[in-house]
Amino acid sequence: WSARLETLRDLPAETADGTRIQLMGNIEFPHEVQHCVERGSDGVGLYRTEFLYLGTEIEPTEEVHYEAYASVVKAMNGKPVVIRTLDLGADKIVRNLGIGTDQSNPALGLRSIRLSLRNLPVFRTQLRAILRASVLGDVRVMFPLVSTLLELRQSKMVLADVMEDLEERNVPFNRDLRVGMMVEVPSAVIMIEPFVEEMDFMSIGTNDLIQYTLAVDRGNKDVAPLYNASDPAVLRLINMAVRAAEHGDIPVNVCGQMSGSPTYTMLLLGLGLRQLSVRPSAIPEIKKVCRSVTIPHCEAVAKHAMTLENARDVKNYLKEDKEPMV
Ligand code: PEP
Ligand code: MG
Repeated sequence: WSARLETLRDLPAETADGTRIQLMGNIEFPHEVQHCVERGSDGVGLYRTEFLYLGTEIEPTEEVHYEAYASVVKAMNGKPVVIRTLDLGADKIVRNLGIGTDQSNPALGLRSIRLSLRNLPVFRTQLRAILRASVLGDVRVMFPLVSTLLELRQSKMVLADVMEDLEERNVPFNRDLRVGMMVEVPSAVIMIEPFVEEMDFMSIGTNDLIQYTLAVDRGNKDVAPLYNASDPAVLRLINMAVRAAEHGDIPVNVCGQMSGSPTYTMLLLGLGLRQLSVRPSAIPEIKKVCRSVTIPHCEAVAKHAMTLENARDVKNYLKEDKEPMV
């Protein structure tokens, strides 16, 4: 298996008819970047930074943030690294900030970008560290759980303010750092056109998008059968987001678990996605699928899937063996 892995590592994620797919890795801990390198990842499409709060009672310093980011950016050696700002709360540990812990509905509560905007010193510390690391490679910054345009604008204002501070202190950073957001709340998809005008890239977070679209807690076993990436409502939202990204000419990525499942690869490529970010262990398998399909075939699959009206039919259809049409 390791020999096969090595052969695959050096081959591009390219469809049988020659369309290059950017296949990137999702990581949480800095050491996981090695898993991306070993599997020939085209970059880190999602760097979750909540790990900095794991097992510590004290607020991470700017240096702690910086060291973590710098090590990943250097290891990727010029390939893109999308650093997501803190997504604390709900399913992700929050103790240390001392707020948001006693909410009866944490997934709808003070979490993620909302928490960052309420704790500006914490947010600014993280942004400073990301900006400092931006001179070491191709760093991009991404805001999680943005649900209104105002939130995106406020986040970008804080970023601009931190940039000005660094400039005054002659600290080097990349002024053209690309700024994007997770598209993972239905309101963001519904309003996607104006969002596209104000960001450089987007990444569809299907884990939360499914949760909020279907009103199904992503971590609750009792409703797990209702949590379904194949639901036509979810597919329509993904389609809307991709169409808007194409229209506005910005890159769009899918970084939820859906993109790491081979069941959905043809559908996602057929909907127009050319970037996927998956857990590093899924890179070889997804690459293999990409290399075995053609875009017209994927488009036909997506077109048919979009006509189906319930999740079970979509899932059954996608799981059928599809003859490669090269
Ligand atoms: C998502 O919501 O799809 C996502 C990628 O982010 P997380 O799983 O960290 O919420
Ligand atoms: Mg999410």
